[in-house]
Amino acid sequence: MSKTEPSVFTRIVAREIPAEIVFESDTVIAIKDIAPKAPVHLLVIPKTQQYRNVAELAAGDPALLADVVAVAQSLADEYTDSEYRLVFNTGESAGQTVFHVHAHVLGGRLTEGSLAE
Ligand code: AMP
Repeated sequence: MSKTEPSVFTRIVAREIPAEIVFESDTVIAIKDIAPKAPVHLLVIPKTQQYRNVAELAAGDPALLADVVAVAQSLADEYTDSEYRLVFNTGESAGQTVFHVHAHVLGGRLTEGSLAE
């Protein structure tokens, strides 16, 4: 994806493609993952697509990363028993397919093979 092309998540923020939105603020959106790998599988996404991965986000806007983590916790409190995995895939070989930073909030047992391919 070129930097100027909107990511799938930017298009969701713009309501150009549908998604099940579970949280939205000025800076963060959270949706249900379209292909869940666990009983609860949410994505917490900064609205800006300028950071490709969590390390770039941490370096460029640590307060926004803290917001992402806080939103993940509050969604986990709502959707799980507050025990969950928080996953940021980084790089293609680690399974990253969308290069617009996002956190996976995973509650319950993972589907066989997921996050390990
Ligand atoms: P990653 O592989 O870490 O880059 O995560 C991208 C995630 O986005 C995958 O788990 C996909 O299932 C999910 N995804 C892709 N397109 C959509 C969409 N339109 N709505 C919801 N989730 C999506």
